[in-house]
Amino acid sequence: MSNLPPAGSQVPETLVQVSDTPNFLRWSKAIPSKWARHGLVGVLLVISSFAVWSSITTGRLGEQAIASSVLSDHYSAAATAVLALESLEHKYRLDPGPSILHNFNDSLAQLGTALERVHRSGTPPDHLLVEDVRTSLTPYLESIYKMFDAVDHGDALRARRIDSEEADPLFEKIENAVLQAAAAHHQESIVALEKLRSRESFNASTTPIVFIAGLLLAGLFAEVLRRTRFELDSQRKNALHASLHDKLTGLANRTLLADRFEQAMRLGRRQGSTTGLLLIDLDRFKEVNDTLGHHYGDRLLDLIGKRLINEAREIDTVARLGGDEFAILLPCVEGLEGALKAAQRLHTAITAAFEIDGVELDVEASFGVVVSGLHGDDPSTLLQRADIAMYAAKKQGKCVLAYDPGTDRRSPERLAMLGELRRGLERRELFLEYQPKVSLSTGKVTGVEALVRWQHPVRGLVNPDEFIPFAELTGIIGTLTQYVLNLALSQARAWIDAGLCIPVAVNISARNLLDDKLVVQIIDLLEHYNLTPNMLMLEVTESAIMLDSYAARTILRQLHGMGIHIAIDDFGVGYTSLAQLKDLPISELKIDKSFVLAMQSDQANELIVRSVVDLGHNLGMTVIAEGVETADVLDALGDYHCDMAQGFHVCRPVSAEAFTQWYVQRERK
Ligand code: C2E
Ligand code: CA
Ligand code: CA
Repeated sequence: MSNLPPAGSQVPETLVQVSDTPNFLRWSKAIPSKWARHGLVGVLLVISSFAVWSSITTGRLGEQAIASSVLSDHYSAAATAVLALESLEHKYRLDPGPSILHNFNDSLAQLGTALERVHRSGTPPDHLLVEDVRTSLTPYLESIYKMFDAVDHGDALRARRIDSEEADPLFEKIENAVLQAAAAHHQESIVALEKLRSRESFNASTTPIVFIAGLLLAGLFAEVLRRTRFELDSQRKNALHASLHDKLTGLANRTLLADRFEQAMRLGRRQGSTTGLLLIDLDRFKEVNDTLGHHYGDRLLDLIGKRLINEAREIDTVARLGGDEFAILLPCVEGLEGALKAAQRLHTAITAAFEIDGVELDVEASFGVVVSGLHGDDPSTLLQRADIAMYAAKKQGKCVLAYDPGTDRRSPERLAMLGELRRGLERRELFLEYQPKVSLSTGKVTGVEALVRWQHPVRGLVNPDEFIPFAELTGIIGTLTQYVLNLALSQARAWIDAGLCIPVAVNISARNLLDDKLVVQIIDLLEHYNLTPNMLMLEVTESAIMLDSYAARTILRQLHGMGIHIAIDDFGVGYTSLAQLKDLPISELKIDKSFVLAMQSDQANELIVRSVVDLGHNLGMTVIAEGVETADVLDALGDYHCDMAQGFHVCRPVSAEAFTQWYVQRERK
């Protein structure tokens, strides 16, 4: 990992650009690498085949030329001997003597040798010719020696007769055969030599061309292969970069942050230095996205990332964890004080106004700060605690807040419980009870509220008050809400299938309203159970809406737009202003049970209940009182024109089966 680029840095341009290419190789870009590989092999094959072919054919031509010239030489020796025989025969007739006879016999021997050689190196036609000559030679010699004998006896007349009648015709046959063959073979040898010469000149001119063309092609294919390898290499580098960086901002992502965090902690332990982590969540970022569009939102996130990079030290890692959440790892920091100072500095940097296309934008941000040692010894604890600190900062309206173990209600035992809760959800140990809401005017059941319980394998039944507040501190609440929605809607479907129309209300936590996925999850579940949106009501507390009122309002409007009813839960204990209430898409107001429970013993509470009923009605909402434990309270609420009631007096929260029985009996009355 140490060779990774520093967080936030871009991949060097040179890695992704294709290098300058000579013009003649430009079009090589169009050649796929598979072809290039085959092409390279093909070119090498062609070049080597050419070399082999040209050496074999040239060699064969050379051999032919040599054989032809040797044969021609033997024929020409035979021809010379034949001509010598003729002239010596004439000489003997004019001037007989032993030396001429000797020469004649010599030439005869030379002819014999030449014919023998022709026979050895020639082809079947040459063999035939040699046989013919030899056949004619015997009678010719007989007549010649007869004629020499006549010359020796001075019988010129007999000698002339033998010569013209016997020797000459035979000799003419021999001479013609040998001289013609010698001439023909001489011509043949010239042709063979000519062929060899022209092949050699062909080789001389073609070989360099073939090799140059081959080299060019090989170079081209090699260039294609080099480019492909280069592109694959840069693709691999890009993929690695993408897997460790946020696409939008180029900052480190969660994976890279986790890795750097581990490294920093290890180094810190060795060197005795402190590692700090700042967790940043933007406030009202959604407002920018929704009012100006995602384009502005994206650019704003990018600019924020750049400011963080500028302001952080080079050794720090700036990461985007998703949405509007950033984190900064300070691998070596001067204790908590140093981390807080860094957080303040970064906070100042990103809350200074941004300008995008002439539009001035302000962001607010909450920073949660933790340092190693003081707040934890492993990355996952530190990250969790930075999250708690950030959430606390948001809740308290602070810019920067360090983790405070005092405000974290998560003792080690409770931390363990969170782990168990995660497992409990997986093992489906959590279940729902249902408590009806009834109309005060008709007595009819208008719906039920789903209330979660946990059947813990060791602790027994655990009430929501004991685990929901901790689940709300972490992402588990998202899983839990999804789990409850699924159970509640599947129950609503079961009731419909049994012929009962009973809308269910599900409690939604503050943190769920910061989660963009909630709306999609609800749409999917309604679709899955084939339910109309009016079968679902969501109960949201005032404080949940106040946490990030813009985000909450946006999600609530979307849900309301789909036809889902929204109720304000525990109304009266929070600080919702009337102006805010008026703007929210709320159809039901639930008066907090603390007022209802004390209604009859405390006049102030009674007054509050009456005022809330009036307020709700004036805003066009249905008002429900929860915590109705007695018939008197029920009657009093009727007198105040409260619309509905919920409480132990009507029915305790019970299992789905128990509720169904209760409901069917009541409807029968
Ligand atoms: P809540 O939403 O105010 O739920 C009503 C609580 O009042 C329930 O407590 C219910 O059992 C109790 N209650 C109902 N009638 C009476 C009555 O006549 N007298 C008295 N004294 N109490 C009555 P429960 O079930 O213990 O739930 C406590 C809180 O836990 C709920 O308060 C709600 O805030 C939270 N909660 C329960 N289920 C879920 C859930 O699925 N998701 C979330 N996020 N929160 C839940
Ligand atoms: Ca509720
Ligand atoms: Ca309530």
